[in-house]
Amino acid sequence: MKLIGAHVSAAGGVFKSPKNAHDIGAKGFALFTKNQKRWEAKPLTESDISKFKSEMKKYGFSAKDVLPHDSYLINLGNADPEKREKSLAAFIDELERVEQLGLIYLNAHPGSHLKEISEEQCIQYIAEGINKALSATKTAVVVLENTAGQGTNIGYKFEHLGAIINLVEDKNRIAVCIDTCHAFVAGYDLRTKEAYEQTMAQFEEHVGFKYLKGMHLNDSKGEFGSKKDRHHSLGAGFIGIDAFKFLMNDERIDDIPMVLETVDPSIWGKEIELLYSLID
Ligand SMILES: [Zn+2]
Ligand SMILES: [Zn+2]
Repeated sequence: MKLIGAHVSAAGGVFKSPKNAHDIGAKGFALFTKNQKRWEAKPLTESDISKFKSEMKKYGFSAKDVLPHDSYLINLGNADPEKREKSLAAFIDELERVEQLGLIYLNAHPGSHLKEISEEQCIQYIAEGINKALSATKTAVVVLENTAGQGTNIGYKFEHLGAIINLVEDKNRIAVCIDTCHAFVAGYDLRTKEAYEQTMAQFEEHVGFKYLKGMHLNDSKGEFGSKKDRHHSLGAGFIGIDAFKFLMNDERIDDIPMVLETVDPSIWGKEIELLYSLID
């Protein structure tokens, strides 16, 4: 089954998100468990946690349907040891929040070398950070996202994700998420059936579908290979609707949250309907 949804608001408390997802007809969703633009966050209270769990149950969501996203400030690949340490502490806090909420996944961008170190060194630091964070927590699974290749971000090649996975000790607690916009602008074409299959074959070779635990469904305002991370509504950008038809009919991508991060939240309900209508 396809679990389509969107990155919904958790304004007013994390427990608001299951209803926000339900209201747009979502079968899966993403959320931030804290303000994504700040380092500090108030701990989740017992009441937040129990309300979240009961809302999850009320609207029929289970843990594997949800893909929380971590803060944009975290960079486990930072060359500066002090900043890396700060990121690690924040990352552990994010994983702990996931565990407190009874969830499984934490979606994260791998990290950035900031032109201070090589990509290889950055990948080493990222993997070290993940290993430390997994040791400090119990069950949460890190879901690394492919990136657009904008700036100095690691993760724009499937090889980067594969290299990090290789260095992570507990393979049961590492996974990946493919963002269609990021893949497309990074040079992975999805527009024709042939191109789609070729991209997915590369994914299978360098990462593997067994690690795929989430998708971000976005069209792109940037052209193919432009490395510009600018999402667009489905069918409105340079990817076009065919790619989403291939995805919706790909049985390798079942039972994982497939989350819209498109630019117009007011049409998410329609986009979800559109995606389900693409299933043959
Ligand atoms: Zn994304
Ligand atoms: Zn993006």
